[in-house]
Amino acid sequence: MRLLQNYKAKRKSGKTPEPQAKIAASRRGQLRFVVQKHDASHLHYDFRLEADGVLKSWAVPKGPSLNPEIKHLAVMVEDHPLSYRKFEGVIPEGNYGGGTVMVWDEGTYTVPSAETRSEAELMIKKGLAKGHLEFQLTGKKLNGAFDLVRLKGDSPKSEWLLIKRKDAFASKKDVLKQDRSVLSERSMQEIAEGGS
Ligand code: MN
Repeated sequence: MRLLQNYKAKRKSGKTPEPQAKIAASRRGQLRFVVQKHDASHLHYDFRLEADGVLKSWAVPKGPSLNPEIKHLAVMVEDHPLSYRKFEGVIPEGNYGGGTVMVWDEGTYTVPSAETRSEAELMIKKGLAKGHLEFQLTGKKLNGAFDLVRLKGDSPKSEWLLIKRKDAFASKKDVLKQDRSVLSERSMQEIAEGGS
């Protein structure tokens, strides 16, 4: 199993407060998602979906949107351990991803047409291979149906688009203005000052 090898390779243990690379053993309840706002060398949002005991992860430079007309680039990055969904704090400068991390949104997700958790995970696996994921989020800020679609043609394999589907949760309001942690209600500034 090469799971989380890349996560481990990018980080020096003991130098960062981030969770250790570990595949989650417990696979129960609803599948989870998290969006972390990350003020690293470039500000971005990390969008992560639980599947197979890890968090499948994309860096979204412009962040998620509830407007179906907006298609934001989402660059697939290394799998993260499931426990990363609770990580909020400061990665020390000089380390990979050095900067402030906020748990901007969290919740659960389902896959349309999948009735069970394991069916949903299978659909995610197939979707990753195919280059198209469909899922329904139940978060505190993000809700409703979304698609992740891999770019075709000459684009790198890691480049996807995150797109809100038209439904009752679609909105032209800028959801990024809700700018406090859903874990601690802190602002980025407060997290930065509070350390990890
Ligand atoms: Mn990041």
